[in-house]
Amino acid sequence: DVTVPEFVLAGAEAYADKVALVEAAPEGRSYTYGEVSRDVARFARALRSVGVRKGHVVVVALPNLAVYPVVSLGIMSAGAVFSGVNPRAIAAEIKKQVEDSEAKLVVANEVAYDKVKDAGVPVIGVGDVARMPGAIGWDELLAAADRAGAPVVALEPVQQSDLCALPYSSGTTGVSKGVMLSHRNLVSNLCSSMFAVGPDLVGQVVTLGLMPFFHIYGITGICCATLRHKGTVVVMDRFDLRTFLGALVAHRVMFAPLVPPVMLAMVKSPVADEFDLSALALRSVMTAAAPLAPDLLAAFQAKFPGVQVEEAYGLTEHSCITLTHAGGGGEQGPVQIAKKNSVGFILPNLEVKFVDPDTGRSLPKNTPGEICVRSQAVMQGYYRRKEETERTIDANGWLHTGDVGYIDDDGDVFIIDRIKELIKYKGFQVAPAELEAILLSHPSVEDAAVFGLPDEEAGEVPVSCVVRRRGAAESEADMMAYVAARVASYKKLRLLRFVDAIPKSVSGKILRRQLRDEFVKTIK
Ligand code: ATP
Repeated sequence: DVTVPEFVLAGAEAYADKVALVEAAPEGRSYTYGEVSRDVARFARALRSVGVRKGHVVVVALPNLAVYPVVSLGIMSAGAVFSGVNPRAIAAEIKKQVEDSEAKLVVANEVAYDKVKDAGVPVIGVGDVARMPGAIGWDELLAAADRAGAPVVALEPVQQSDLCALPYSSGTTGVSKGVMLSHRNLVSNLCSSMFAVGPDLVGQVVTLGLMPFFHIYGITGICCATLRHKGTVVVMDRFDLRTFLGALVAHRVMFAPLVPPVMLAMVKSPVADEFDLSALALRSVMTAAAPLAPDLLAAFQAKFPGVQVEEAYGLTEHSCITLTHAGGGGEQGPVQIAKKNSVGFILPNLEVKFVDPDTGRSLPKNTPGEICVRSQAVMQGYYRRKEETERTIDANGWLHTGDVGYIDDDGDVFIIDRIKELIKYKGFQVAPAELEAILLSHPSVEDAAVFGLPDEEAGEVPVSCVVRRRGAAESEADMMAYVAARVASYKKLRLLRFVDAIPKSVSGKILRRQLRDEFVKTIK
């Protein structure tokens, strides 16, 4: 019956002087394991002193900083619920999360302070408090808790069934919803997914903490997993290829959990040529959150031949990872690597089935259907959204992911796309990911997005926005013909437009709704 902070920091005493978290920026802050354990406990006590009780939600509006995991584990340690928000979101969005989650407190720094200061709840200011008038200073708060000695109010015991996190889905396909995760959910997901790191790396792994920590991928897959292994997280806020590659070299990063857009930049940008890539200590790159185009994978492997690419699939509603590319290892037997372009194997302690979304019937192997998962890592539900919860988790406990995929005879799973994003052309379904992968295989295409446009006759038609490589001469019609030559005729693109950039979410997903709205405006 172990809580997330207990699980993650177990054995930290033996690593008291080892660096657990270090900011990649020059002169960045760092924390040893001794400091992490100490400050998690201090912050948990301090939270009690400002009235936070078991079950209260604390919104964290911080960028990726070394202190971030200390803040979130401290909140969980106090029995409260950590709810991360993008500090660079607009004020209205952050306030919506504070209100919807009924938060009792916000933790912010200069990046978000102005957006949260009048949200109606006290704010703890991390960093330069002089620039956050009205905030409770982090350092003073912790020092005051030290002086008070014992907790102001005895900490109530925290159980595995208690909630510990309330991440909000980014709302790329619907309204943003709070995902209720318990200590058991996260611990169970960490137990199933972490074996892939390999026992030989305990105490040694150096992980890049680039993906946002307010997202489940950052907090669970990167911070909690690495701290549990007593490795070091190299913390980076915001992506810039030169700084990113510099940090990989300077910190001898071994494991980089990324998303396809970052890999695209690594492969396509000339900036990478400024670095001696053979000097990298990088062993593996994990990619998740969005489909990895086969050509991008091939180009990445050609440019970084010594680096293993591990695709993974997961979702917030399942506490993070669901399928990973490297199976087995450790106590689970020899490491097995999934087939190229497969998203991986089903993790241990999980049940997965593929169902016909219309009838709910289980489908045989090699037949695409909605991916459904049942495990200890399935969320408790959406916060205050009973109907949406019932639509997502059925009476038998199966989480309906909204993604379509299939499993082959060897147990490799392939993802086709999100059901909501499939384009319904006449009676057919067209997966944007398939057409995007074809476009990306064109030498003059830098980036591409495909989505459906409403059409009176066909229902929807596939159209695309493409970022053309500078100096390329191909026309829009040439690009459409390139796709048409490679797909069945119902999948042909009906329109294609060159754009400067493809809008993406912070977690690496194409913002198709936004693209579609902009596209529709230009047609009218
Ligand atoms: P919303 O449902 O509001 O759009 P979200 O996009 O924030 O929320 P996340 O939990 O961040 O939700 O993302 C989970 C989704 O990401 C999965 O359901 C799936 O569609 C997609 N995804 C994750 N990994 C992969 C992968 N390896 N390949 C393709 N898609 C993936």
